[in-house]
This record gives sequence, C-alpha cells and structure tokens, in this order.
Amino acid sequence: MSNTPAQQFLARSHGHWIDGAAVPEGSQGEIVVIDPATEAPIARVAAGGQAEVDRAVAVARRALHGPWGDMTADERTQIMLKFAGLMDAHAETITELAILDNGMPRVIAESCAPFGSMFLRYYAGWTSKITGSTMPSAAQGKRPSQLHAYTLREPIGVVGAITPWNYPFGMEMLKIAPVLATGCTLVLKPAEDAPLAALFMAELASEAGVPAGVFNVVNGLGESAGAAVAAHDDIDKVSFTGSTDVGRIIVRAAAGNLKKVSLELGGKSPVLVYPDANLETAIPGVAMAAFMLQGQNCVCGSRVFAHVSIAEQLAEGIAKFAASMAIGPGSDPKNMIGPLISARQRDRVAGFFDSAAQEGARCLGGGTRVGDRGFFVAPTVYTDCTPDMRIVREEIFGPVLALQTFDKESPEELAAMANDTNYGLSASVWTRDLRTAHTMSRLIDAGQVGVNTHAAMDPTMPFGGFKQSGWGREFGADALELYLRTKAVTVTWD
Ligand code: NAD
Repeated sequence: MSNTPAQQFLARSHGHWIDGAAVPEGSQGEIVVIDPATEAPIARVAAGGQAEVDRAVAVARRALHGPWGDMTADERTQIMLKFAGLMDAHAETITELAILDNGMPRVIAESCAPFGSMFLRYYAGWTSKITGSTMPSAAQGKRPSQLHAYTLREPIGVVGAITPWNYPFGMEMLKIAPVLATGCTLVLKPAEDAPLAALFMAELASEAGVPAGVFNVVNGLGESAGAAVAAHDDIDKVSFTGSTDVGRIIVRAAAGNLKKVSLELGGKSPVLVYPDANLETAIPGVAMAAFMLQGQNCVCGSRVFAHVSIAEQLAEGIAKFAASMAIGPGSDPKNMIGPLISARQRDRVAGFFDSAAQEGARCLGGGTRVGDRGFFVAPTVYTDCTPDMRIVREEIFGPVLALQTFDKESPEELAAMANDTNYGLSASVWTRDLRTAHTMSRLIDAGQVGVNTHAAMDPTMPFGGFKQSGWGREFGADALELYLRTKAVTVTWD
C-alpha cells in the first residue's frame, strides 16, 4: 500500500473533533467506512450520539463567548484565508480522500479543494461587510436630538449542521464558511456514509487558527447523533442538507426549542430542450446534468422535456454520450462514472430499472448494474416516459434520465408539465431564443434556472429550493442571513 498523506490519514483512529482535539472514542460503536468502488473497508470511525453532541454543544456555547466572539472582522478574515490556503496546499490529499470516501470520479474529486478554498475566500471577504443600520426612529415621542436607534447584526449562536454524503467536502464547506464569517460556532454531524471530510477539514481549520470549540464534528448515525443535534435545546439553529423525508423529521425535532431551521433538500429537476437549441452543446450538457456524480446530486436533471422534432436526435445523442462514459473506480482518471455510495443505494436505483420496465419506458442504454464488485450502475436513458411513472416522479439519486416530449404546448402549459412535481430546486432551458429563455425562466418553479447550462454554481449566486426542496438559501450573501440575528437598539436621553 502506498503511503500517501491520505493513506496515513485513513490509518489513524477516527471519531470526532471536539474542543480543538480529536476524540477517537464514541458511545455508539463504530462506523466502518467502505470504498464504494471495491467494497473494501478503508477506515473506522467511532460513532457518537447524545453524549458526544452534548459535549460538543457545551464547548461550542462556551466558544461563542470566548476569544472568537471578541475577534475583529479582520482577524476572522485572516484565519479563513489561512484555512483556504491549507485547503489548496492539501488538494491532492483531499482529492484522494474524496475518491475513497465517496467514490466520485477523479475529475470531480479534484474540484473539492478549490471549491472549498473559493468559498472560504468568498465568505472571508464578508466578515467586514456584515453591518446593521441606523434608523430615523421617533419612538417614545423623542426628537432626533434625543434618540439614537440602530440595529446590530449578531451571530445567531450555536449552529448544528447535518450534511449528506454526495459531495462531502463541498456540502460541509457550504455550512462552515458562512458560519465562520458570521462568528457563529458549529457542531457538524456528517453523513455516516462519508464521515472523513469533516474530520480532515476540522484539523485544517484548527491549524489555520480557528479557536478550540468553534468548529466541532460529531460522527454517528442519523437516528442517534443527527437526531440529538436536531432536537438539542442549546442549539440555536440547525442547517440541514439531505433528503426531503429527513428534512421533515428535522423540522419536527427542532420544534422543541423552536430553533431556526434551514433546509437544502431533494430535487427532480426539469430540463427543457427546444428545437432551436444548439444540440452540439445541449447533448453533452443535458447528459452531464443527469449523470454527473452518477446522478447523486440534488440538482440532477433527471426529467427531460424535448420538443418532438428533436427528441429522437437528442435521446440518441445522450445515449451515445452515456455509452462513451468510462465506468470504474474514481482513482483511474479516465473513468467518468464512479460507483454509487452503497449497496443500498445501488439496489434502490436497480429498483427503478425494474419499475421503468414494468411501466413501459423504453430503455435506450444502461438500465443495468455493472461488474460484481463495487456499487456500479450504467448511465441510463429512458424515452416514452409519462408523467405518472416512478422514474419521472421520484428522486432516484442515480444516473437515470427520463425523457418526455412536448409539441404545441403554450409556455404556460409546458411550465405546468415541468412544475408537476413536489420539488423545486433547479431547472434548465436549452434554446437560442431570448423570448423563450426569459419567459420560461419566469414560469418555472425552481430556486435556480439555467439557460443553455444546468446548475451553474458560483459562490455569489444564491442556491436553494422552492416547494419541498427546502427553506432558505446557501451561497452568496443570502447564506449569511441563515446565521445572523438582528437586534434593534434604541438609546434615548433627556
Ligand atoms: P439523508 O436525508 O438520508 O441524510 C442526510 C443527513 O441526515 C445524514 O447526515 C444523516 O445521518 C442525517 N439523518 C438521517 N436521519 C436523521 C434523523 N432522523 N435525524 C437527524 N439527522 C438524520 O440524505 P442523504 O442520503 O445523505 O443525501 C441524499 C439527499 O440529500 C437527496 O435527497 C439529495 O437531493 C439531498 N441533497 C440536497 C442538496 C441541496 O443542496 N438541496 C445537496 C445534496 C444532497
């Protein structure tokens, strides 16, 4: 076995990160971390529950009022910039860990470190721009010469974050960076299927100068550690990314102390392809919208609506593109499709292959498992789909594209087809016509719309869902709102 820094990291005893130190024991047994490409165990992580969450919350509460709370904006910026530099310096280790922990293809794993450092730099610039306002208040009958009224923007307090496994370094950084920028403290519960990214980043944060207790990690199962975070009476806010079903559980659990809640949930994103689209770019674009990260991404463009005049050409082009995507371990840079995260996820996706066949969809390619080791399935294209099919209605979280056609529908009718889902996360419109682009962008019920691109992500652009895809926005200035509270101060004198 090669002895890369990633291999050395994997070989260590893992558990939690609490109060600036590794805690390799846990009260709830252990999580065996599997490489989804080989099914071989790669690390062991002690699992925590209520006891570890209690401890982490207590130190996070204390840290809120310690040196962290009294730091200048510039001091926080400097720490965040140093953290960003460390993400870049450890880029190759992060890439290796992402491939092993999650199974993602190398080309995507290589984006994890730059994605993280870019977000840290973006939010590092915000620390000094978080400001309140002065108000022209005339409260209590006071004149302007007898009163000064202003607002303070304060950190919301102790944040509990619960994250998924599909792009762990990134999903976690979307919580960490704005939490640090706003001066909050964090108890992060990563997904049990990919628990290593958070531990690695907590060490880097500590090395960068984030004080002990500010950034804590408790690993464990959703039902134990996750539930303890969601229900904790001394957590002020829970920031959740995951499935819509668990999102509902989080909301109920948070009701006890009425902690603030933000939710980034599932999707079933529509992709509209018009006859005037440039198919040379639309075919790979639509294929990647569905197959990137093996379709294990919340913005997955899994519901394609193609105009009848180009539907066949589009479907065949996508099927050809899919067939050309090399399938195999992410460690081999030629592979574009890695394994799904787990046997459970592979079996779930295979269940959709069965339902598609039973419900009469036509398979143009894929629809099978690949190999007998690792959790691989082939990128899959279905045509002849109808709105009631399970592959059209349910979030699959696998590389499965379901194509329906449209013909003479009005913009409103086509939007109704696209919006016929409980989700509202992302959408794209492929056309060269300005009127179509802008009209459909307004009519589609999704928090994000791309024109001739799908799910364009940038730190400056707010991201989040309508309908059952979530509450609140990550990315951009909007994310700061999730972690701030406003205090109104009125000072009077005689
Ligand atoms: P999941 O909902 O099963 O798990 C997410 C997290 O919740 C994990 O850390 C898990 O341990 C925890 N959890 C599970 N049960 C819990 C409980 N009872 N109480 C508290 N926490 C609990 O989701 P997943 O399978 O990890 O990820 C896939 C889902 O995440 C998909 O639905 C996908 O669309 C969604 N997702 C959304 C976004 C977004 O930004 N909108 C991004 C990535 C993934």
